[in-house]
Amino acid sequence: MKNLNRRNFLKTAAIGISAGALGTTSVKAADKTLSEDRVGILVDTDVCVGCRHCEWACRTAHNLPSSDLESYSDISVFKEYRRPDCTSLTVLNEFKNEKNPLLPIYVKLQCMHCEKPACVSACIVGALSKREDGSVVWDDDKCIGCRYCMVACQFQIPTYDYNKSIDPHIWKCDLCSERRKSGQLPACIDICPNEALLFGKRSDVLRIAKDRIRRKPDVYIDYIYGEDEIGGTSWMYIAGKSFDKLKMPPLGTDTAPGISEAIQHGIFSYFVPPVALFALLGTLMWVNKHRKIDSGENSENTYPDKEENKL
Ligand code: SF4
Ligand code: SF4
Ligand code: SF4
Repeated sequence: MKNLNRRNFLKTAAIGISAGALGTTSVKAADKTLSEDRVGILVDTDVCVGCRHCEWACRTAHNLPSSDLESYSDISVFKEYRRPDCTSLTVLNEFKNEKNPLLPIYVKLQCMHCEKPACVSACIVGALSKREDGSVVWDDDKCIGCRYCMVACQFQIPTYDYNKSIDPHIWKCDLCSERRKSGQLPACIDICPNEALLFGKRSDVLRIAKDRIRRKPDVYIDYIYGEDEIGGTSWMYIAGKSFDKLKMPPLGTDTAPGISEAIQHGIFSYFVPPVALFALLGTLMWVNKHRKIDSGENSENTYPDKEENKL
């Protein structure tokens, strides 16, 4: 296969995506077919060097507590396994590389932006939605803080900001939807110095992943994590060792409506008649929204100004 120039590929992808599917109406994944042009990201763990620049860029782009980039060269954080939380929407973890002990394997974690997201199915007020471009996004105005999404997600990704229990806030990777509106790449991908993250159409990314595996069978196992897991995910991974040894959950290919349906079924069947429930939820949403307006909080945009977002 003809080699793609990465910068050209990324530039084309960013322009195409900003002009295409992004910004279209949000859809429930189970209800409609996703755009053929929906995005995908390849994490090539063989070329990730564990610099943690992606962690810094993500925090900076989302106005989360951070410090200077140099401080991210601290590798002592790898002593413990970490998960994304409300202070860091993406984190790296380090694993032993039996083939080359001097070069550990680093695996980046964030929301996988599932093709059929269980969190979206579980959210009874539509605060989480799957966009046609493939991203799964959270709506501050609608969220009532029930945390069903946290229970439903098989990757255990959405995190709750317990310091904001009066004003519920669910944190997870949003695929940098604000940056992409202006044609920018997601911050973590933009900053990656070693081309370990590749962003484009999911179908193109998948083809490139297969090509890398085919060309380097001694480097990669013949498996793309995320191609089919629970119906497929937007983020996909290739690696030199099996993914269960990299702590990626061993999920089947079936979508995961079971948990989210069970949550909703439990509510509707055993606790509250639907009309009463929606009346209650509507009241909670109204109160929540007006509380934010009264406090002067900008409920439309939780991101800093674009100028401040520049890396
Ligand atoms: S990884 Fe979890 S939070 Fe992200 S889309 Fe999938 S179910 Fe939702
Ligand atoms: S906390 Fe509840 S309302 Fe908010 S996004 Fe999660 S499931 Fe939806
Ligand atoms: S795509 Fe954006 S929100 Fe998601 S991990 Fe990367 S920088 Fe963070």
